[in-house]
Amino acid sequence: MRSFRDGDTIDVEPWRASAFPVIKDLVVDRSAFDRIIQAGGYITAPTGSAPEAHATPVPKADADFAFEHAECIGCGACVAACPNGAAMLFTSAKVNHLNVLPQGAPERETRVLDMVAQMDAEGFGGCTLAGECATACPKGIPLVSITGMNKEWLRAARKAGGR
Ligand code: SF4
Repeated sequence: MRSFRDGDTIDVEPWRASAFPVIKDLVVDRSAFDRIIQAGGYITAPTGSAPEAHATPVPKADADFAFEHAECIGCGACVAACPNGAAMLFTSAKVNHLNVLPQGAPERETRVLDMVAQMDAEGFGGCTLAGECATACPKGIPLVSITGMNKEWLRAARKAGGR
C-alpha cells in the first residue's frame, strides 16, 4: 500500500476504532468487516457454472460503477484515517457494488439495511463526511460512494416502513 525509502521517518497513525481491537503492535482484528460482509455482502442467485456473458444485460455505466466499488480490498485504511473511526466507505463500497447489478437486486433493500445495522452494532463511529477515508483509500473508492449508500438506505427504510 505504501513504499518508503531507507532512513525515512514514519509517523504511524494510532487506530482509533474500538471495532478494530488491537492485537499487538501494528496489528488489529478486522473481523468486524467480515461480519458486515456476512450481513449482506452476497447474492442468492444460483450460480453454477459461468453463464454466457451477455445473458444478463448490464448497462456499461452500471458495470463500471460496480467494478469501481468491487475494487475495495477491505484493508481498513479508511477506518484508520477517519477521525470518527467510521466504516462508511468500506460498507458503501460493498453495498454499492452489488446493489447496482441485476444479480444483487433481490437483496437490494435487506442488504443495505442489514449491513448498516451490523456496521453500527460493531461499534464503528458515525460518519461526518470528513473525507479522510477517501483520501487514504488505496483503491480510490470515492467519497460519493457514501452518499450512494445513504440514498439506498433511505429508499430501503421507506419501503420497509420506517425500519
Ligand atoms: S480504504 Fe478503500 S480499499 Fe481499504 S477498506 Fe476502505 S474502502 Fe476498502
